Amino acid sequence: MRIVKLKGKKASLTNKGELSLLFVGVGSAFTKRQYQTNLLIIKGDTNLLVDCGTRCPHALYELGLSVTDIDNLVITHSHADHVGGLEEVALMNRYVAGKKTSIIITKEYQDMLWKNSLVGGCSFNERKDNKFLKFEDFWDVIRPEKLKDYPRETFEARIGSLDIKLFRTKHIPDNSTDWKDSVTSYGIIIDDKVMFTSDTRFDEELVLSFEKMFNLRSIFHDCQFFTGGVHASFEELNQLPADIKKKIYLVHYGDNWEKFEKTIENYGFMGLGKQSQYYIFN
Ligand SMILES: [Zn+2]
Ligand SMILES: [Zn+2]
Repeated sequence: MRIVKLKGKKASLTNKGELSLLFVGVGSAFTKRQYQTNLLIIKGDTNLLVDCGTRCPHALYELGLSVTDIDNLVITHSHADHVGGLEEVALMNRYVAGKKTSIIITKEYQDMLWKNSLVGGCSFNERKDNKFLKFEDFWDVIRPEKLKDYPRETFEARIGSLDIKLFRTKHIPDNSTDWKDSVTSYGIIIDDKVMFTSDTRFDEELVLSFEKMFNLRSIFHDCQFFTGGVHASFEELNQLPADIKKKIYLVHYGDNWEKFEKTIENYGFMGLGKQSQYYIFN
C-alpha cells in the first residue's frame, strides 16, 4: 500500500485501475476539524461513496466535487454523520442533475433508511395519482446477495471490478451483546483486502474472524479516545494481537487527536487514518 497526499489538489473520481481509498473526513459525529468519517473508494472508472453524513456535501465541495458527481453509494447505518447528507444527494440528483445514484442496500436496511430517515424531506415533494415519491424514484437499487458460510451475516455486491462485502456490526444500542442483538449496522470489506469497520463497539471476534478469512492488508477501524458508549476505544483495541494492530489505522476520532497520536503509535497501531490522501492498494 502506498499513500499519496492530495496537497490542496482536487480529487479525481477515476484512476488507472488500482484500488484507492480517500477519506473525505476522519472525524467522529460532532467533530469540527476534520469532517466526518465518510469514505470515497475509486477504482478505474468506478467511484463509491461509503456514507454521506451531514457535513459530507461540504467536504466533497472542498475536494472539488459535487454530490451529483458520485455514481454509487453504500450506507452503513442511520446516524446523521453517515446519512445526514443523503437528502441533498437525492434532491440534487432528481431536481438539478436529473439522474439517480446507484445504492448498494439490503431490503431490510432500505426500509429502515427510507421510513426512519429520508421520507420527511424526500417523499412529499411530488404527488402523482395521490401517491408520493418512493425510494426507487431517487435511487437505482443494487441488491447485495447474502453469502453462505461467513462468520456473521454478510452480503456481497459488485460494481465494475470493485467487490464490496457488507458485514453486520455491534454498534447500537450500547448494551447489545453481539451483532445479532444490535440494530442493523454494517462495515465493509473491499476487494477482499481492506476492511473498513465503520461504526462499531469493540468486537474482537469481528476483526479476528475476517483477518483469518482474508489475511487483510489494512484495517480502518472506528475509534474514540475514551472507553464507553457505542464506539471502540483505542485502549480496547490495544488488546488485539500485535500482528493485527500493525495493519490498523484508526478513524472516526475526536478533535483532540494530537494528544493521543504518540500513544497510538507506541501501542503498535499503524496510526491515525488521515483525510486528503489516497491509500492505494495494487
Ligand atoms: Zn459515526
Ligand atoms: Zn454510528
